[in-house]
Amino acid sequence: MTRASQANTEATLSGWGNVPVPGHERLTERIDRASEGAVLSRGLGRSYGDSSLPPPDRREVLGTRLADRILGFDPQSGVMRAEAGLSLVEINRLMLRRGWFPPVTPGTQYVTLGGMVAADVHGKGHHSAGCFGSGHVRNLKLRLADGRIVECSREVEADLFRATVGGMGLTGHILEVEFAMRSIPSPWIWSESRRCGDIDEFIETIEEVHSTWPYGVGWIDCLSRGRNMGRGILDYGRWATAEEAAGKPLPNRPGIPIPFMMPGWLLGPLSVRAFNTLYYHQHVARHRRHGLRHPASFFYPLDTFLNWNRLYGRRGFTQYQCVLPKSAGRGAARTFLELLTSKGGASFLCVIKDTGPEGLGLLSFPKRGISIALDIAVRDDTQQLVDTLNELVISLGGRIYLAKDGFTRPEHYRAMEPRLDEFLQIRRRFDPEFRLRSAQSVRVLGDPARLVGEDETA
Ligand SMILES: Cc1cc2nc3c(=O)[nH]c(=O)nc-3n(C[C@H](O)[C@H](O)[C@H](O)COP(=O)(O)OP(=O)(O)OC[C@H]3O[C@@H](n4cnc5c(N)ncnc54)[C@H](O)[C@@H]3O)c2cc1C
Repeated sequence: MTRASQANTEATLSGWGNVPVPGHERLTERIDRASEGAVLSRGLGRSYGDSSLPPPDRREVLGTRLADRILGFDPQSGVMRAEAGLSLVEINRLMLRRGWFPPVTPGTQYVTLGGMVAADVHGKGHHSAGCFGSGHVRNLKLRLADGRIVECSREVEADLFRATVGGMGLTGHILEVEFAMRSIPSPWIWSESRRCGDIDEFIETIEEVHSTWPYGVGWIDCLSRGRNMGRGILDYGRWATAEEAAGKPLPNRPGIPIPFMMPGWLLGPLSVRAFNTLYYHQHVARHRRHGLRHPASFFYPLDTFLNWNRLYGRRGFTQYQCVLPKSAGRGAARTFLELLTSKGGASFLCVIKDTGPEGLGLLSFPKRGISIALDIAVRDDTQQLVDTLNELVISLGGRIYLAKDGFTRPEHYRAMEPRLDEFLQIRRRFDPEFRLRSAQSVRVLGDPARLVGEDETA
């Protein structure tokens, strides 16, 4: 029986892409105790693929999201220490109106601090602020595979720190995170947007805008071809000054639920094409001043609909996110889009970001260049499509983002990641018996699927 068919008869667990495997979360407020002997920690399950899923011989992962206490906050420096299960949505609820915001935020606030460190998340401001773990985390408390609890930072156990930041939970269970929040002049964003006619104009405009604006992200119509290839809208912003915000209160914006799984055809090529065309043309003028904008609509537009992953239906979806380095030249993004459209890779969502220099996390995703992310409904040929895209990315010197991945082959990942051996060496020092594993580490890093002497369904 395959793992997917077993899923029909027992409890299942999936990443955000909704591709299930047998398994369940052990939820507890006391991750400091429950992490002893656990194979993997899982936050809010917003990684798309199998990063937060158990390896084939195990059924249980440690669910951290109830361990969410703030342990300390210094209003002078903005340094916060909290348990790893604390979510960004909670941090924003408490801190935004008090003049503080996380230094880096991904495109959803339904993530935990532990997940943010383990994936070393980046945001719309990577060009100006770097990644969360690499740039802003000061100290981590970890439960190691051998049961010890240790602290690490850039100065103390520095190798462990570099391997843990972006290390996808494979070096230890993160129990506590200390990081510096950022002081903001008002809780509102001042934003603008521009329409770009093709991918070359897009990349030129991103570079220009990012020399002065701290945040920016582009949406691309990745079904457009020919001279319109890669047309789209670039959205950029900064925190509004106190004068611009003029004391305007920030309303709550609760998410709208998608109550059940939608039929798989809903996001087929025709609806994607219609959406893309409408979205592009609703931006009538080439350059538009938005003025004040709610931070949730700027940073987290997808959170408007809770469970929007249900739109992809029962077969689920994956996100392909790669970074194409600057060294590959300006034409690299066009080459990528040409290959994608020639393979019929219709995507409802295709997001482009400018990425700054590589951080210190050994498996951290970004490097200087352009990141392209697209959602792909799972079909019979998805593996083939990912393989083809990966081959191009390798030839251009790029890499994929593990937090989004569910399909990359081990030989492809190795070819993309020159830092992998160093990561594996450090990990082996702290966990020679592979006690910490995930479905992804078995698939991509070649970890043993089964440990000798382990109970199969533990
Ligand atoms: C709509 C959407 C938008 C996104 N946008 C971005 C973006 O802009 N930038 C970006 O970088 N990412 C983005 N992501 C990905 C997301 O930020 C990461 O996958 C993040 O890791 C999810 O956090 P989580 O708490 O849900 O972790 P999970 O998905 O539960 O786990 C992710 C990884 O972290 C590990 N982990 C979690 N908690 C711990 C812990 N306490 N100790 C050790 N390991 C742990 C898990 O083992 C797993 O390997 C987005 C995801 C979604 C759904």
